[in-house]
Formats: sequence, C-alpha cells, structure tokens
Amino acid sequence: MSVLGFSRPVDWTSFKSKLRRGLTAAGLTATAAACADIALAGPGLSLRAFAGSLGLGLGFGLAIGAVWAGCAQLLARAPRFASWIVWPGLTSWAFAELALSLRAFANLGTRYHALAVGTLVACGLAAIATGLVLVLVQPTRTGTPPLMRAPAWIRWVAALALVIGAVVFVYLDRSQFPGQYPSFHTALRGLALFCITVLILLSGIVFSPRQRTVRNLTLACIALLVLSPFPLLQAPFQPALETMLSRPFAALPLRTGRLLTDFDCDGVSGVLGGGDCEPFDSEVSPQQREIVGNGRDDDCYGGDANPIVAAAHQSRVPVPAKPSPQHVVLITIDTVRPDLMSVYGYERNTTPELARWFADGTKFTRAYAAGGWTSIAVPAILRGVNPRRLQWTRMYETNRYRYLKAPLGAQLRKGETPRAMFLLPLSDPHWSLATYLRRRGMFTAAVVDGGFTEILSKKWGTAEGFDTFVEINLLARNLRNDAQTADQAIEILRNRPQGKPFFLWVHFFGPHARSTRHPGIPLAGDTERDLYEGEITYADQQVGRLLQVIDEQTDRPITVLLASDHGERIHSARSRSHGTDHSEENIRVPLLAKGPGFPTGKVDAVVGAIDLMPTVLDITETPGPPGLDGTSLRVIATSADDYRSRILIVDTFIFDKSAGDTGTTFRLDLVSAVSDPYKLTMNRLDKTLGLHDVDDSALAGRNLLGSRDARDLEAALRTYLAETGGAPLIVDNG
Ligand SMILES: [Zn+2]
Repeated sequence: MSVLGFSRPVDWTSFKSKLRRGLTAAGLTATAAACADIALAGPGLSLRAFAGSLGLGLGFGLAIGAVWAGCAQLLARAPRFASWIVWPGLTSWAFAELALSLRAFANLGTRYHALAVGTLVACGLAAIATGLVLVLVQPTRTGTPPLMRAPAWIRWVAALALVIGAVVFVYLDRSQFPGQYPSFHTALRGLALFCITVLILLSGIVFSPRQRTVRNLTLACIALLVLSPFPLLQAPFQPALETMLSRPFAALPLRTGRLLTDFDCDGVSGVLGGGDCEPFDSEVSPQQREIVGNGRDDDCYGGDANPIVAAAHQSRVPVPAKPSPQHVVLITIDTVRPDLMSVYGYERNTTPELARWFADGTKFTRAYAAGGWTSIAVPAILRGVNPRRLQWTRMYETNRYRYLKAPLGAQLRKGETPRAMFLLPLSDPHWSLATYLRRRGMFTAAVVDGGFTEILSKKWGTAEGFDTFVEINLLARNLRNDAQTADQAIEILRNRPQGKPFFLWVHFFGPHARSTRHPGIPLAGDTERDLYEGEITYADQQVGRLLQVIDEQTDRPITVLLASDHGERIHSARSRSHGTDHSEENIRVPLLAKGPGFPTGKVDAVVGAIDLMPTVLDITETPGPPGLDGTSLRVIATSADDYRSRILIVDTFIFDKSAGDTGTTFRLDLVSAVSDPYKLTMNRLDKTLGLHDVDDSALAGRNLLGSRDARDLEAALRTYLAETGGAPLIVDNG
C-alpha cells in the first residue's frame, strides 16, 4: 500500500488492474462504512449484525467495484469523448430518477415550488459533479486516469474536497427529513460512499496478494464472508435485522440485497430476513392482507388467520333513558409532546394555564397515541378502536391542492396529478363517539382546525354525530389559528341550548409544523425546538381562555379531557416531524383529566388516546358498543394498580408516495405493543422487531429482544394482527 498522493504510477491499463483497484476501493469503503456504523450503534454490539454487515457490505462494495471496472475497461478502449458522454449521461439519468421519485417535477408551480426548484438544482449539480469525477478517474487507453496524473497539490485538494463531501453527505443524511423521502437518503449515503471510494482510488491503495496460495485463500475467505449473511440473516424478526436497518450504512447493502432478491417484485424479498414466504408469488407478502380461510398465509405472518371485520350492530346498543349527569369537553391539541410541557414538569414554563387549571386534576404520565399521524390517530380516538380495525379509503391530494377520493376515475383535471396519498376511514361502519352521545340526547358540538389539510373536514365525515361542527379551515386565512379556535368554542359554550348536557370537542392545530411566531410569547432561542415550544405556549394560552369559560358552566358537573393526537421528533435546529418511527417522542402524548371521580395527582399506568371514547361513555353513562379497545380513564385513575400489566397498541402506516404511484403499496407499516416499561415495535414490511426499555435512557436505542421477556407483548401483537388481518383494510374499489 502506498501513501496518498505519492503512489507509484503503476499499471492502469489491464482489466485486472482496474478490477483490483475498483474492488479494493469500493469494497473497502462499503465494508468499513457498514461495520463502523454497526460498531457505533451504541452499547451491546450485536455480533450477528456486525458479521452480517461485514459480509453484505463487502459483497455490495465488490459488486459496485466490479461494475465500475467493467465500464472503465470498455470506455478505456473507446475514444476519449465516449467517457465524456457515458459517465455524465449515467449520472444525469440517475439523478433525474431521484428528482422524479422526490416529485420535484410534479411540485413545480405548487406550494412546494421553492423546495422542488432546490431539489432540481441540487440533483443537477450532483449529476454534473459525480459525472465529472467519474470522467477524471476514468483510465485512458494508455494508462493512468487524468486525476491521478495531476500535480500533487491538485490531488491533495481533490482528496480534501472528497473528505469534506463525505462528511457533508453523512451530516445531511442524518439531520435532514429523517424517516421521510427514502430515495433522498439513499442518494446521500451513496454519495458519501462514492466520495470515499474515489479517495481510495486516488490514494493508490490496491489489494494484490502476489502468491497464488495466499490469493486463493483470500478469495475463498471473501466468498465465505459475502455469502455468510444469507444463512445468518435468514430468519425474520431477529434483533440483528432491526440493528442493521436502523444504521444507514448497514441498511444500504441489506436493502439492496433484498431488492435484488425480490424475484416476484412485490417489494419483499424471500431471503435476508425479508419475510416473503412465497418468493415467487406476488399475491403473498407482508404487503397483503390476510384473507379468511383460504388456507394461505397471505401476509406471511401467523398463518391463515381469521380477521374480525367490524360488525356494525351498533344500532342494537341501548339508549339510556336518563340524561347524562355531566357535560364533557374533549380538547385535543395536534402534535404535542408531554416532556416539553411544564404541566408535566418541563423546566421552561411552556404551559402555565394547563398547569394551573389541572393542578387538582389527574395527570397521566404514561399516555400513548393510537397512531403516528393525525389521519390515523384522530379517527381511532373518535371511534374507540385501534386503527387496523377501521376500514380505509385512499385519498389523494393533487398538485392543485384538491382532495380526491378513490377511485380516481375521471376526477383529475388536465395537468392535475396526485402528489400525496393517505388513508381516511370514509366507509368505516363504526359509529363515532358523537353519534352515541347525540342519540342519547346530548348537544354535540365540535370546533376543528385541520391546519393546511382537509383531513378533519366535514366533507370527509368527521362531522358525523355533531349538531354543530365548525371548521376553522373554512374561515379566512388570517382567522385560521388557535385564538380563533378558542373563540369559536367559547361562542358555542355561550350559545348552547340550555337544559341539555353537552359534549364539546375542540381540536387545536397550532403546534403542528410549520412554526409561526406569536407576539408576546417569549422564546428561548431561534431553533425549531424553541419555536415549537412557543407554539405550545401559545396554544396553552388559548386553551386557558377556553378553560375560563368552561369554569362558568355551572348548571351541571363537567369533565374536561385534554390530549394530543401524537407527539413530535425534533431532528435538528431546523427540522421536526412525526409519524416516521415509534420513538417515545413521536408516540407519547399528554393526557389530562379533571372532573368528578378523577383524583388529584399523577397516574403512571399505561393509558392511551384510545381510552378517551370509553371514558366519555363512562362519564355520560352512555352504553357503548362491544369491542372498544380502551378502558375508562376514570376507572384506571382510581385503580391504577389493577392496570399495571396493561398492553396498548400503537399503529403507523403510510403509502409509498414515489412518482405517480397510486397503488396500495405501503412504505411504512409499524405496530407497537406498549407496556410498562417495555415497548415492542414490529416493522411489518422490514420484518423487524425491536424491544426497548422506555424508561432507561442508558439503554435507549438498544434492542433488548432476547435479553428480556417479551412474550406477552409479542402475543398481544400477534393477536391484534390476527384479528385485524395485518395490512390495513382498504375498501375503496379503486
Ligand atoms: Zn396530528
């Protein structure tokens, strides 16, 4: 091996020499990156994950090195201008594909115009730069590539630029839009590996054992290493898979290996723990739903199960004769994390109003969302069943910001394309909470701010069961905020029909991204976290005004319940998001209750937003339908010890939104069983299971599967998935 910049001008002409250089550079880079990423995964290094990453990284790198060597050999024999056409041509094609998958073209001229232009510019620059670098490292017919022939100082500058490039790409990968835009992240990882590979080519490091025996032995060892991941990672749901897929440079070779072995093109591989139980039948994979009694394990989990589809016998639920003894107010604030609320002990005084008002209420300290996104979480709250029990319809948001329901048919206008796709339970047969309450004579009202989305719109059925339904989204733009939400709710309370018990649901949207600054709200700084805290404080102020008016309603006892639909993860000083994983930040929510029967103080039993409907039914003495997933929080609060071993379910699923895809392919499908203190998360598509201790920060990020007893949690997941059929049920006939 020779020192950087001083490499002896050895042979570049033969195919063998190019192959050696390519294999050394790409092989070393991919292997080192994958292994280092696993080694840096934190305490409790998984040997299986390490060995798997070593073999897959090596195989991945060697394959890329061989492809490069082959192309380089062909181009070395062709006239020089061919390199100038082929390499930039290839990189332009690759980055055009990337831009397409990021919907950069479709988003031009829309609300995301600036981001789309930025994406196109970045892709263009990256295509030019990588194309140029490939031309510069392309060996000529007579030998050494231009970059390697350049003066030493140029090679040093190039080396420095490559190192900086690699660092920048790794930084961007880990700080920007984590969990979103998978192709963007794959590109960043590829670019980082590319920089280091070229650096090694430049350095002149070449692996070439001279003795034949040594060489043969080495080749045998390499072959063994490259093949070892196949038996090593064959079983799905093993901890090594979760570790590898959570580490970017270990995930890249694993995902590539799975992609190349997905023979039936159903998005799932039958090897490397991919979990496709029928690798040559695209009708059978974890993307599919279980079909009752067809003798086939359609979703490759738990055999041929018997899904329980919602039986709509709600009309048989008795209607009580006595009026509700209480009024109930349900306040949901979108996207709020309890650990950033002073009512839960956060050091900054972000929620003084809630802290004051709920001082003599119940604070549930271990509360979870039903789902990671509004569109999954809120329908579950309003129907009292976990998301997978609902029946879903595909919804499209087009580049003209129209919301269209599947089937698309002829709904699209000229030049209009779907730009986002999600699910709403438009034809779900479950009755909503408000329907039961109105039916038994309560006045039901809602004030709902869906922000920039139509997800909670009356148009899509959220108003079902409400006598009054106010949509903040329909107001003039300058009125769509938390102050207006509070004002509208206050107005309803002041004008409500007298003598009737009421149920009021108010959904605030303010803390959801994007952040805005509110006059008079002090901020600790300028980061996204500071702005987010400002939004929470502003929402607290507005909820506070509403709580004052709630205090004036003295004709009947009143219970107030406050929760969020899901949490939020702060990734960097400039970015935050939710719904991309089941971290505590994303799925833990505040849950506060005050009213007759709720004790003062903290309750640390595991509870969830799914408990809200049973709670309201309990408080209003309304019989509910069978099969609700939650339990009354009033019951749990007064006998928390009986609920110590409780297990809650959290769901998150989202479609693959890549270019033009309007199918039913899921990109992310997570389901967690949460207890005290362990949380078991299954990624149905990746076939991984992660067991995490939610209390022990020293173990954070460490997969405890195998070292702790998780049988109850696994059984809960298995039962839930068997009852619901695995993949979410889509019933839109599209
Ligand atoms: Zn939300």
